[in-house]
Amino acid sequence: MTIQPIFQTAIDPQKLEKLAEVAVQVGLRLEKGQDLVITAPIASLPLVRLITKHAYKAGAGIVSTFYSDEETTLARYQYAPDASFDKASDWLYEGMAKAYANGAARLAIAGDNPMMLAGQDPAKVARANKANSMAYKPALEKIANFDINWNIISYPNPAWAKQVFPDLPEEVAVAKLADAIFAASRVDLADPVAAWADHNANLKKRSTWLNGERFAALHFTGPGTDLTVGLADGHEWHGGASTAKNGITCNPNIPTEEVFTTPHALKVEGHVSSTKPLSHQGTLIDDIQVRFEGGRIVEAKASKGEEVLNKVLDTDEGARRLGEVALVPHSSPISASGILFYNTLFDENASCHIALGQCYSKCFVDGASLTPEQIKAQGGNSSLIHIDWMIGSDKVDIDGIKPDGSKVPVMRKGEWA
Ligand code: ZN
Ligand code: ZN
Repeated sequence: MTIQPIFQTAIDPQKLEKLAEVAVQVGLRLEKGQDLVITAPIASLPLVRLITKHAYKAGAGIVSTFYSDEETTLARYQYAPDASFDKASDWLYEGMAKAYANGAARLAIAGDNPMMLAGQDPAKVARANKANSMAYKPALEKIANFDINWNIISYPNPAWAKQVFPDLPEEVAVAKLADAIFAASRVDLADPVAAWADHNANLKKRSTWLNGERFAALHFTGPGTDLTVGLADGHEWHGGASTAKNGITCNPNIPTEEVFTTPHALKVEGHVSSTKPLSHQGTLIDDIQVRFEGGRIVEAKASKGEEVLNKVLDTDEGARRLGEVALVPHSSPISASGILFYNTLFDENASCHIALGQCYSKCFVDGASLTPEQIKAQGGNSSLIHIDWMIGSDKVDIDGIKPDGSKVPVMRKGEWA
């Protein structure tokens, strides 16, 4: 008698194993004795098992995984009493914050069905998200402030694969999405760890150039876009590997192609159009058009998901202001794949983007030593949300504006100038 594996998939097992190794050795750089907290969709169990194996081989103290599942999430929307939607599992998030305070690393496996909540009441979705964001804040701050090493990596769940390749049979769609994830995560190469070292060096070269230029603002022009993004005082550009406050140099996002910094929360002017749909917690928001005045979004439209977009913008005062601006060449491998992933981790790395909400304190010179008040005084935004959306394409030009008003070409037709 043979024991059936729980999940049989069309995913290349060797590459999946390499993805697990990259998560532990490049993404997290897990240290001997360090604990690890994983959150994962239940469908990604094969990857969780491999990551757990490699984490213990790297000397992990204890690995704890918390699973989510689409059907149980939907059961809440179908059957839970109305008051449920203002609740969150506070105790769980408090526990996570405690684990990070005690030095645990954090790994999230992305890959939920991007349309999971599309058919649900947007008001309930927004309330549940808000309750969750509030409960999660102490833990999220430890991640956003880079107190610990952390990583997000993806697994090709069937529901996600079907969204990306709707015309293919499920098994073929999963295999195709798996290959796209492997290529974007550089695990299809002979030595993925060495490939990541090269890639990190290239991103470092870009961020070093931008830091030397000390631009006061970036000016984006393209179809439906004429946007000036003032940069925060003492902003610093980052990209690729990053050193957390615990001294570990990790790659928080796999894949990653961006260099990014902090805009000035009060100095964004003009209008901008999205260049790809935004998949936000189960809803698709498409053709976003917003207008900024004094850093604040004063007008927001979308051809799809406009109600959800406006609910997001009403989360708090900081939700209408920018917390990140990021540059990605149009020729990035993810963009070149031509696939729309309906997943920010991938789509944001196909295109220049901006993020509504919370800024990263590490995107300031000496960011680790700044208080929240100092960050605010320098133009850093704060919010419960951080939502990236894409504004770059091969039709968008970007100029850097120096403090004296002179302009330096940064990108032309989506490529580094
Ligand atoms: Zn980004
Ligand atoms: Zn972001």
